[in-house]
Amino acid sequence: MFKTQYRGRFAPSPTGALHAGSLATALGSWLHAKAHDGKWLLRIEDLDLPRCVPGADQTIIQQLSACGLSWDEEIEYQFKRTHCYSDALTKLIDSNKAYGCRCTRKQIEDAQLASGRKKDRHGELIYPGTCRKRTDIIEPCAWRLYVHDAEIESTVGDFVLRRADRIFTYQLAVVVDDHLQGITHIVRGADLIDNTPRQIYLQQELGYQTPSYVHLPLVLDNNQEKLSKQTKATAIDVSSSKNVLNALSAAALHIGLTDHRLLAKSSAEIDLSVSEWLTVALSNYQTLLSQGLIKF
Ligand code: GLU
Repeated sequence: MFKTQYRGRFAPSPTGALHAGSLATALGSWLHAKAHDGKWLLRIEDLDLPRCVPGADQTIIQQLSACGLSWDEEIEYQFKRTHCYSDALTKLIDSNKAYGCRCTRKQIEDAQLASGRKKDRHGELIYPGTCRKRTDIIEPCAWRLYVHDAEIESTVGDFVLRRADRIFTYQLAVVVDDHLQGITHIVRGADLIDNTPRQIYLQQELGYQTPSYVHLPLVLDNNQEKLSKQTKATAIDVSSSKNVLNALSAAALHIGLTDHRLLAKSSAEIDLSVSEWLTVALSNYQTLLSQGLIKF
């Protein structure tokens, strides 16, 4: 029987260095890929340039390398791939699945008030479809996807594929890249779970296959808030192998590994090199998986 080769990926946005949360995601997706004898790709999601921090991609690359989380194939940068997103958008426009929209935020807010529609649970405006039927929209305009799925439509509305400033959105880029890179499995943080129905819908509209998805629990700070680069979560310190082992050990604990050799309270107690640590981690993960004791 033909078996598709597993292809996973880690897709950080270079808005800051890796922190405990993003390292747990990187380790989880790496283990998942390696346990399935798969490839693990690295993609830098740097489309939203104003939010990117210069040099953060290099910092992330160094951190992953120091942690021994090596990737297969060349690193992809979304910034260099805008022609791919443009082709996908053209396909959607040509098949009347996307439409131009010149509504301002204020207009959307007013239309929303008038229609009694609410904001979504993150306080984002749900677009009420004002420009759906207009044929006179000219650039510069945003491009939105017609969403016919009642559930997605009522939670996020017709979402944006390319902003009026010509920046392609995360939703479009991630779907196009996962497709073009042949990604079969996506293991990422639970903060992205709300995006998954939108991405699956967009895959269907583009005629792409849907990969399988796993969302890992988030690492929370002392205030029970998710760690994020925006809130300046502490960067993983890779200045010595002791520090690397400490960081890996915390990530392993978070994702549910159990082998005591991985989880020592301080790296002084870990009697392994980084590459030995990863070998033990992979074997521990595989054992837990085969016993049904780990949920991803
Ligand atoms: N670039 C996104 C982030 O750093 C992750 C994208 C994904 O895994 O789908 O939050």
